[in-house]
Parts: sequence; C-alpha cells; structure tokens
Amino acid sequence: MDLEIANKSVVVTGASSGIGLACARLFLAEGARVAICARGGERLEGVRKELAEQFGNDRVFAQPFSVLDANAVAEFAENVRQRFGGCDALVTNAGQGRVSTYADTTDADWREELELKFFSQLHPIRAFETMLRDSGSGAIVAVNSLLASQPEPHMVCTSAARAGVQNLLKSLATELAPEIRVNSILLGLIDSQQWQRRFDARADTSQGRADWYAELAKSKKIPLGRLGEPEEAARAIAFLASSAASYVTGARLEISGGVSRFV
Ligand code: NDP
Repeated sequence: MDLEIANKSVVVTGASSGIGLACARLFLAEGARVAICARGGERLEGVRKELAEQFGNDRVFAQPFSVLDANAVAEFAENVRQRFGGCDALVTNAGQGRVSTYADTTDADWREELELKFFSQLHPIRAFETMLRDSGSGAIVAVNSLLASQPEPHMVCTSAARAGVQNLLKSLATELAPEIRVNSILLGLIDSQQWQRRFDARADTSQGRADWYAELAKSKKIPLGRLGEPEEAARAIAFLASSAASYVTGARLEISGGVSRFV
C-alpha cells in the first residue's frame, strides 16, 4: 500500500524522543519533509542533525519551544510555511502523563494537566489550520491514550483530561471537515522515554530492564505479552495521516497490544 506521503509536509510535535521521533523517522523514510519541536533544545538539535544527515538538510526543520506557548507555536507555523510552503499533516504528540490519585492531585495539578492535554492540541491545530485546509488532503492525528475510555485511579486527572480531548477531537472532525480529517490513536503502553524514566525510578534497582518490562507487561495483562515499540505507534499514525485513510475521520485506533477492556 502506497501511503502517498512523499514530498508532503508533515509536522510532528514532541519529536525529540519516543513516538514523535519514530514518526519523524518514518515520514522521512517515506519521502516527506518533516518539521519537529520539543522544549529541550539540545536534545532536539541532536535529533535534527541525525535526521538531516540521514535524509537531507532541506527535508528537516526543528524549533525548540513548548506547545503551551501559543506565540511560539504560531511562529513555528510561519517558519514551516516559509520553509516547506505549507503543511499537509499535523501529528499532535507532545506531552506526558501524570501519575496521581484523586487524593493527591491539587487544584494547581488539575489546572496544569488540563492545560497540557487541551492546549497541546488546540495551539498547534489553530496555528496550522489554514495550511491544512489549503493542502487538499489535510490530516490531523492526535496522540491520546486508552485512559480516555478506561480511567485508571492512579492517573485520575490524566484520564479525565484525555476523555475531554477525545470529545474535542470528535467535534473538530465535524467542524474542520471536509478539508481536514481528524483522527486519534489511543495508546496502551509504548516503550519510550516516559517508561524509561519510570524504570530509572524503580524501587528495586537490582532488577534489570528486560525483567522490569516483562513484569510490567504481565501486571498490566497485555494480551500480546509486551509493551509496544514507538515504531508500531508511528506506523498507525502514518496510516491515519496518509491518503490511505482518505475516508477515515472522527475515528480512533487503539495501539495497545489488546489491553483495553471496553467494547
Ligand atoms: P517521550 O517522553 O519519549 O516523548 C515526549 C516528547 O514530547 C519529547 O520529545 C518531549 O521533549 C516532548 N514534549 C513534552 N512536553 C512538551 C511540550 N510542552 N512542548 C513541546 N514538546 C514537548 O514520551 P512518548 O513518546 O511516550 O510520548 C508521546 C505522547 O504519547 C505523549 O503525549 C504521551 O503522553 C502519549 N502517551 C504515551 C504512552 C506510552 O506508553 N508511551 C501512553 C499514552 C499516551 P521535551 O521534554 O524536551 O519537551
């Protein structure tokens, strides 16, 4: 199946590691031009250099900022327009989960989490909307989590915020149609920097990486028996961003190894 992504302009937020970086690599391998961002400038520049060496300097653009800074996102969008002439697909991936129960989540934590989950979508979507409309095949793929439909008590505010985002995306799929398709992926557990951080902070430091990950997959009862790889999430994202999914909008795709319990 040809994804027909060659020469398209693709923006991936939060692409200096994990799923975002896997997406950038995949889109570049498919012949697209790719613009990326992240907050940490040094790591982002390292990734930009590596991608530029492999795929060509003229096909990679990177700018460090937080997606929570609306002015910075708008400036990034203008730079992408100047550099690539427009934007055909936007992957709203930047962010992270928050581990906290109802009892230990303060009002300030709630506000911070709601701001991250909603504005990491809204700011980039607003900034790139006109370019996506003008593309002729505009697509937004939002990275979300199974927590949107299957809340976990130890991630209470992330779960609630992700449910709200899913609701927002459904509205956008209607309001931005027919020019822009809006879809999401719901992730289970994907091996990335987020999980590496949790592994680094493990209680029993004598436990090796393979054992810790195997135990995690077992405790979460993942039917496929392991965490997903960032590349496995990236392939689903590339499908939804591509013309192979030209009649798909307002949809969500689970990338979870079958771990969801809802129908
Ligand atoms: P990583 O931590 O590996 O990657 C996150 C990326 O986003 C980094 O490049 C990070 O760089 C960037 N980032 C974080 N916050 C911001 C911000 N405010 N503005 C711009 N860039 C930002 O994690 P994953 O690849 O796992 O995460 C990708 C997405 O998938 C996240 O939204 C996450 O919540 C979601 N997800 C992941 C799951 C998993 O199991 N891995 C499960 C469910 C959802 P920097 O820190 O320098 O800004």
